[in-house]
Amino acid sequence: MIVMRSQEGLRRALADLSGTLGFVPTMGALHEGHLSLVTRARSENGGCAVSLFVNPLQFDDAADYEAYPDTEAADLGLLEAAGVDVVLVGNKDDLYPPGFATRVDLTGVTDGGEGGQRPGHFQGVCTVVAKLFGLFWPQRAYFGWKDMQQLCVIRRLVKDLSMPIELVPCEIVREADGLALSSRNRRLDASERAAAPRLYRGLCAARELWHGGERAAAALVQRVFEELGENFPGDYVEVRDTTDYALVHDPVEHGRIVAAARLGATRLLDNVSLS
Ligand code: AMP
Repeated sequence: MIVMRSQEGLRRALADLSGTLGFVPTMGALHEGHLSLVTRARSENGGCAVSLFVNPLQFDDAADYEAYPDTEAADLGLLEAAGVDVVLVGNKDDLYPPGFATRVDLTGVTDGGEGGQRPGHFQGVCTVVAKLFGLFWPQRAYFGWKDMQQLCVIRRLVKDLSMPIELVPCEIVREADGLALSSRNRRLDASERAAAPRLYRGLCAARELWHGGERAAAALVQRVFEELGENFPGDYVEVRDTTDYALVHDPVEHGRIVAAARLGATRLLDNVSLS
């Protein structure tokens, strides 16, 4: 596995790979969710590349950025064991040198959801992803449904800018009790960790209602809030279209139920498919 710490030489390392390139952008602090994307990228392409970069542009909260876990040595061990060919360990001074002035901004699909809660977040995400796509120029890029709005936003970006990159959405990997794996889960204390699976339980309960014939979005949303209860405040619960992230109106016949909720200082995101 070749580990690059700057853009310099990256293209040469990639040029030595044969066949299609599958690319997995991450912010490190890797877990089985990330590794599921890597394994899939590995199996569907001749070469596999991963980026580890905590992108300052996408954090609206400096404390959240500072507190983001850094487990680089463990991450590199996991990627090597997974058979990754090339890793870029991103450095902000290298990727955003003095004079860097470009911002990539989308409208519509970034409204509401995480875009509504975290001003500037998707501008930061789109800027770094456009930059990483320019550096790696993969045939396929792998993203998790875990960040459903991000997936829809990047799909729009790739389409609008005519980038010849196939996006491959990957299903959410969970703990045995249903909690979606996330680098932020390690911030939960014991009682928060015990409460955290209520988010997925609520989403599953709403999906059960839907399977039973309920087609009113408000009833599905209400069911999730019931399961969360008072000590687990939801930022939002919505039914969203899987392609353009538009709100799905009654009668709800498709989409995913998406929720963000807070346990203490930690925000948890999750969603389930209505199918
Ligand atoms: P992050 O490092 O949080 O930016 O995530 C990098 C990629 O991994 C994104 O495409 C995420 O959607 C994906 N991802 C994060 N958690 C999971 C999970 N539990 N299951 C599947 N994919 C995930």
